[in-house]
Amino acid sequence: MTMPESSQQWALQLDPELGLRHVAKCIICGDFCVDTSSADEAQDWCRQHARDTGDDYFELTGIQYGTTVLVKHPSVHDTPPT
Ligand SMILES: [Zn+2]
Repeated sequence: MTMPESSQQWALQLDPELGLRHVAKCIICGDFCVDTSSADEAQDWCRQHARDTGDDYFELTGIQYGTTVLVKHPSVHDTPPT
């Protein structure tokens, strides 16, 4: 199924309820925590993981979730190429 590209466009809407999520990952063994709304919680996970395993190098990532929506532009705004 093909659609004309001129009259519609993909828009990305970030999820305002989730906001910015934080994930901590251990570089040494690849283990990672469930994403959390708090950067402090992700860092706590690193400290706990270091206590449990002795691993000492981590990656902290901020994540945003969003939904893509197909937006149809009214044809009156279409300007033909000249
Ligand atoms: Zn580890």
